[in-house]
Amino acid sequence: MRQRIVAGNWKMHKNAEETEDLLNELIDKIPTDLDQRVIVAPTFVNLSAAADHLEFTPIEVAAQNMHQAEGGAFTGEISAGMLESVGVRIVILGHSERRAYFHETDALLAAKVDTALKHEMEVIFCFGEELKDRHAGQHFNVVENQLKDGLFHLEASAWKNIILAYEPVWAIGTGETASPEQAQEMHEFIRDIIRKNYGNTVAEDVSILYGGSVKPENAAEIFSKPDVDGGLIGGAALKSDDFTKIVLAI
Ligand code: PEP
Repeated sequence: MRQRIVAGNWKMHKNAEETEDLLNELIDKIPTDLDQRVIVAPTFVNLSAAADHLEFTPIEVAAQNMHQAEGGAFTGEISAGMLESVGVRIVILGHSERRAYFHETDALLAAKVDTALKHEMEVIFCFGEELKDRHAGQHFNVVENQLKDGLFHLEASAWKNIILAYEPVWAIGTGETASPEQAQEMHEFIRDIIRKNYGNTVAEDVSILYGGSVKPENAAEIFSKPDVDGGLIGGAALKSDDFTKIVLAI
């Protein structure tokens, strides 16, 4: 069954004390009886404390990245097993900042996805075109290729642990939002190509989140579109009032 999800990507923000404060505010403000899933992704160093803090709450915790290897001489990296060992069962992979600043390719991301799934983690898989792609009329091709190269090697059964996050790069952290119509058009396209490759059940069951300058003011309209199943939120996830409003807008 398709799930409605709002996830907050905290990026490289919030030290230990600030993390605890924001979590406490979210625990106070977000009702406990919601049908939608609420996920937050603090930085690696605060994940263990966040997972402990959120253990008896409906708010789930995700990592922002992980390495594809099980372990080894990879200075500065974090493995799926390490995330699991601190109670993290969800990982964001393929964020545009990882692709752009850390040169993560589709092939690397496919390997990370495989490792996460081997650990029975859920993957929030991010993808989306740059502005130049949209201007060149290539946005559908770019998105299709990112999905094909990152995910379409998976068996249909693996898709129960995949959450998609369409994030047009030109809308991330820029204040520019895709219009609800642009988001719906792309989400419908994404669901159609999944249907072509995996059939109707996988296509209908997969949650497709929209990300890119979602705010309390525009969330409800974006979430009202039939193929938009929630959001991946950056800047607005750092303020408990804004994030709570977005969670409640779904
Ligand atoms: C993001 O980084 O995933 C994101 C959507 O950021 P923002 O909401 O700030 O555009």
